[in-house]
Amino acid sequence: MAYEVTYIPGDGTGPELIEATRRVLEATGVSFAWDVRQAGVDEYEAHGNPFPDETLASLKRTSVGIKGPTTTPVGSGFRSVNVLLRKELDLYACIRPCKAYAGVRTRFPETDIVIVRENTEDLYAGIEFERGSEGNVALRKALEALGAHVREDAGISIKPISVFGSERIVRAAFDYARERGRSKVTAAHKANIMKFSDGLFLEVARRVAEDYEDIEFEDRIIDNLCNQLVSRPAEYDVIVLPNLYGDIVSDLGAGMIGGLGFAGGANIGTEAAVFEATHGSAPKYKGLNKVNPTALMLSGVYMLEHLQEQDAARRMEAAIAAVIERGERVTYDLKPNRDDPSAVGTSEFADAVIEEMNQ
Ligand code: NAD
Repeated sequence: MAYEVTYIPGDGTGPELIEATRRVLEATGVSFAWDVRQAGVDEYEAHGNPFPDETLASLKRTSVGIKGPTTTPVGSGFRSVNVLLRKELDLYACIRPCKAYAGVRTRFPETDIVIVRENTEDLYAGIEFERGSEGNVALRKALEALGAHVREDAGISIKPISVFGSERIVRAAFDYARERGRSKVTAAHKANIMKFSDGLFLEVARRVAEDYEDIEFEDRIIDNLCNQLVSRPAEYDVIVLPNLYGDIVSDLGAGMIGGLGFAGGANIGTEAAVFEATHGSAPKYKGLNKVNPTALMLSGVYMLEHLQEQDAARRMEAAIAAVIERGERVTYDLKPNRDDPSAVGTSEFADAVIEEMNQ
């Protein structure tokens, strides 16, 4: 039986990246019934809404989506499709494996970590009070009454971290580790300074860890974690973090494995899971059949794992890794010299992966 999957091409280079990914996914032999739905700036320009109701309805119905990147124009009143998606589907866990593949130029070739980022709370919750606003004045007054002085000319952002939010993200990290045969979860925090937000996160993490005796647990203060990741990356496995630290460490991880072109991801929620690359729509390369589809292809691998198609996932990942390691039929960014005339396009990279898989 075919898996029904919501298929969102996105904009910029999204359509060409997802087309390359779709062909490789189909070549695994797994059957898909793609429900093609639109989102992004092209959809906004055509019909006035970057995230149509039908796209959301499709994701709620199929509960699995694969998505090309979508542009968020700066200063246009246009709301980010990704923020809307996360909110509407309560996609609370952002899972970003960062593995350095042989053949990629990186100073951290032993990196093989998985970043599990909480996606709904923390300083990202959007609870902010502009300097001088009515809410800001009222909040400062309330704080003053509690003995906390905040300067009159301060803007204020609130950092809520709940037991509920911490527990479900830490469980997601341990469940991921258990399902994938990984042996350790590290919780990152700044509990020594933010005792009641990060401290709570750490306290919940320690309690949840007791339910997973088969998996080692440790914690690290976030600044120390960053230092250690770039000095001893092999010591880390699954890392679970509150939202803001997770955002920053995801990009650190992408840098360690050779760049955004290799960073795939999964956004997992209570109602649905959406698979997409970490990078954006790279609009300057739109329509040029040039950019590297690896990150979206790896997101496709994670989708296969989510669908319990482990064998297909393993074959697809191995084929991508082999093409990268050989370094012949790869995109410009994977060549030692970016002007190398032997670089192939997005679509030809997909051809190479399909041939590799069919061998
Ligand atoms: P970007 O990731 O689109 O591109 C930055 C640069 O990285 C590109 O110019 C290119 O040189 C390189 N790059 C990115 N992906 C690549 C690939 N697959 N292969 C080779 N090189 C690649 O970042 P940006 O320019 O900051 O953002 C462009 C738009 O994308 C913005 O509107 C942003 O809001 C949006 N965005 C969307 C998502 C998403 O949909 N998930 C994520 C991040 C950014």
